[in-house]
Parts: sequence; structure tokens; C-alpha cells
Amino acid sequence: MAIRLDGKVASLNIKEQLKKEFLSLDRKACLAIIHFNDLASASYLKGRIKLAEELNVEIKEIAIKEDSRQEEIISLIKSLNDDKSVDGIMIDRPLPKKYDENYVLSFINEKKDVDGYTYNNLGRLLTNSACYPSATPKAAIRLLEYYNIDVSSKDVLVIGRSVNVGKPLALMLLNKNATVTIAHSKTKNIKEKCQKADIIFLAVGKANFLKSEDVNENSIIIDIGINYDENNKLVGDASKLCYEIVKMYSPVPGGVGVMTNIVLMENLLMAYKNNE
Ligand code: NAP
Repeated sequence: MAIRLDGKVASLNIKEQLKKEFLSLDRKACLAIIHFNDLASASYLKGRIKLAEELNVEIKEIAIKEDSRQEEIISLIKSLNDDKSVDGIMIDRPLPKKYDENYVLSFINEKKDVDGYTYNNLGRLLTNSACYPSATPKAAIRLLEYYNIDVSSKDVLVIGRSVNVGKPLALMLLNKNATVTIAHSKTKNIKEKCQKADIIFLAVGKANFLKSEDVNENSIIIDIGINYDENNKLVGDASKLCYEIVKMYSPVPGGVGVMTNIVLMENLLMAYKNNE
């Protein structure tokens, strides 16, 4: 029977420790979240606000109006950079297409960059130096760590190469001595690569992308995908039939997604301390 890598169980442990640390601070740590009022943002926001309440963290939620100009978002970021009561800043990605995402994100003060977007934080990841790790890829790693799964010397396959998830995840795994293959939409023979990999990380964004015939009894699946099926039910990138075959899997929901918000709060704590 496959082992379920449960994000809720893993996050409980970290949450208790974090709560103690946030409660011991001189003032409440504050995370500013800029979002664009869409459905996905609303569901992420709900989870973050709930967690923030549990951890004694303040959330400053800022919804951007549909007709806002890029310069307005940049000046908002600058004012949050200067605001001493704000410790961390995050913007829900992807930004609407009319904005130049990389340009806008580059205005975040790197010391408040709790989701590791800025060029400096990405560069530090590249050089394996201390940085704010991007929350989603770090969450996948934290889940493995909780279950004592060592990636060193393992053949890992990361499917997806976005700056948001796939690329930083591949770098984090490389920094932990995994042998990393990155696959994307132009990659040949992905099914064979899945069969050969010790651990498959899915960051594609397509329900049922990974099928039962792509895995075997030694496979470990870490599913980062967030999709909605025809019944509007949240599902990952792996077909649930894979769960009956593999050695271990992280479910969706209840896997990496739960850990992502926890990592964000870990980064916020780090930012609070760095900004003191
Ligand atoms: P993205 O920017 O759309 O990237 C998707 C990646 O998948 C791209 O690199 C793309 O390749 C690759 N891909 C698409 N079709 C493929 C195919 N047929 N074969 C192989 N590769 C293929 O998405 P993202 O922002 O990285 O997010 C990935 C998934 O993670 C989404 O479902 C997203 O909702 C989810 N996510 C989850 C969390 C969380 O907290 N759990 C957080 C963020 C994102 P190309 O580069 O060649 O186009």
C-alpha cells in the first residue's frame, strides 16, 4: 500500500513551532498580500488569512482594481517597501497579462521578498547561498524532509520549468545533490523518463497528466499541480489511479499546497528578523 505524504500532518509540527516564535516577537509580524481579485486568489487568500490568525500574524490584503495602471502597482510596492510595519510582501502570480510581471516584481525590496521572486533572491538560489526560497518549490522539499526522504544521489524528474515552480525547484533539488532532469512541453519520451525516475515532481497544471502506466511500485510522486476536474473538484496532475501503484505520493488536496502557506510564514519570520 502506497504511503501518503500528508501535508496536513507535516505542517502541524512546523505550525506549532512557528506559532511560538511569532508570539514571542515584540510586535505582530505583517504580511502584505497584493492580489487581483480572481477566483484562485480568493481561495489562496482564505487559507492564508486562516493560517495567519492561528499564528498571530497580521495580513494586509490589497486588491488591485481591474483598470489599475502598472505604475500604480509599482508605487504601491514602493510604499510597502518603506512601511516599517510591513515585514513581507507577496503578489499573487501570474499577474494579468497587461502587466510586465518581471518588471513589476523587481521593485519588491529583496529583504521583504518572502516568496523569492526578485532577481537577487533567484540569483542566491542559483549560487546556493542564503535566500528567501520561493514558497511552493520549498514546500515540496519540506514535505520530503518531514518524511525523511533524502534526495541526494536520487534521479529526480521535474516536469514543468516555470520561474514560479519548476526552475527554482530543480535548483533546490540540485543544491541538495539530486541528479535532476527537467522536462517541459517540448521534451521527448516523458513517459520513459517517468518510469526511470526515483521521484517525479509534477508542476504542469494538467489534470490526469501522469497516468498509472507511467509509474511503477518504486515511484514517488510529488504533485504540485492545482486543477479543477469536470465536477469542479480540486485535483493534481497525477491520476488518482497512480496512487494504487506507487511507493509514495503527495495527494491533492492535502499535500504540497498545505505546506506552501507554512513556508511563506517561515519566510515572513525570517524577513521580520532581517528587517529589525
Ligand atoms: P506554468 O507556468 O503554466 O508552467 C507549466 C509548465 O508545464 C511549463 O513549463 C510547461 O512547459 C509544462 N508543460 C505543459 N504541458 C506539458 C506537457 N504536455 N508535457 C510536459 N510539460 C508540460 O505553471 P506553474 O505556475 O509552474 O504551475 C504549475 C502547476 O502548479 C499549476 O497547476 C499551478 O496551479 C500549480 N501551483 C501550485 C502551487 C501550490 O501551492 N501547490 C503554487 C503555484 C502553482 P513549457 O515551459 O514548455 O510551456
